[in-house]
Amino acid sequence: MTLDVGVIGVGMIGQEHIRRLDGGTGGSRVVAVADADTDRAAAVAGGLPTAKALPSGEDLIAWDAVDAVVVTSWGPTHEPYVLAAVAAGKPVFCEKPLAITQEACGRIVDAEVAAGRRLVQVGFNRRYDPAHRALKQALDGGAIGAPLLVHCAHRNASSPPHYTRDMSIADTAIHEIDELRWLLGQEIAAVQVLTPRRSSRGGKLQDPLLVLFEMADGVLVDVEVSVNIHYGYEIRCEISGETGTVELADPAPVTIRRDGAAAGLVPADWRERFALSYDIELREWADTAAAGRQPLGPGAWDGFIAQVVSDAALQSLHAGGRVAIALPDRPDLYAGPAGP
Ligand code: NAP
Repeated sequence: MTLDVGVIGVGMIGQEHIRRLDGGTGGSRVVAVADADTDRAAAVAGGLPTAKALPSGEDLIAWDAVDAVVVTSWGPTHEPYVLAAVAAGKPVFCEKPLAITQEACGRIVDAEVAAGRRLVQVGFNRRYDPAHRALKQALDGGAIGAPLLVHCAHRNASSPPHYTRDMSIADTAIHEIDELRWLLGQEIAAVQVLTPRRSSRGGKLQDPLLVLFEMADGVLVDVEVSVNIHYGYEIRCEISGETGTVELADPAPVTIRRDGAAAGLVPADWRERFALSYDIELREWADTAAAGRQPLGPGAWDGFIAQVVSDAALQSLHAGGRVAIALPDRPDLYAGPAGP
């Protein structure tokens, strides 16, 4: 069966995902798009063989021809679209963050629990990145013994004019929040955000930030969040264990040695660094939705927990100090693996 997908928000990542969903990666095609910028929606639909631009995201979700929904609009707009898709009983892939407060994410969890079925997948694509999967495989296979410390860096080339200090946590470090829970198989018990000397390249922005996480089993994690490094886009993770260390390798495919120096290319941005992860993520999501099965990837509960931790980190950023995190009980719907 071909999965007929509607995409809400056709900016940068919306257009990336459309490219993958429309005839590229498997049994899906894009039949509808909607965007606050209706000219952009019309232009994107015009470039696709089967897509129609609809006046609003709500119209798109309600349209019978749409089997499943992708939400790639700006974070503050996610909640109503995801809730409407759940109410319509349609699978929905929502880019991170699921919503911008834990209360909003909690409403999505409540709606899914009331529906009695998992319909939501959140775009935490690191779980699909082959390098991150190899890191987890090494750790789970006992290659370095029990993990003790983790050192991460999330470095963006530049930040757009609307980018705020809070977005360094809620929009950027939220990837590490999900990655750590997945990689280490533990919840995050406490967080503290430190503000080092400010980079002159970030204008008035407090950049970089240093985020310290305490995992429930005592593993300590430091994450550098820098959003104006200018030399490219770089994601680092090194885990120090009882018997060794494991780290993400340099993603450059080749190293050039000449004139007494060795150099490899640094990816320009997330599109280049994580292209394969988006391919795998969307292929799995579309195949699973087309088969009428529940999503296999990170779901509404993962989006909610990430937001609880993000909110705690923002509390630390605003007021200082260490913030302990108390998580509510997980509803039965989210126990065990997702699937049919
Ligand atoms: P973007 O380029 O600004 O695109 C967002 C699009 O949504 C714009 O066309 C925007 O129109 C439109 N929009 C805004 N409000 C809307 C509404 N209420 N209904 C429908 N459309 C609306 O942003 P982006 O970089 O693609 O990011 C979109 C989402 O993806 C964000 O949540 C972001 O965090 C996430 N993201 C995830 C990754 C990842 O690696 N997983 C990477 C990048 C982005 P206007 O321009 O007119 O406002």
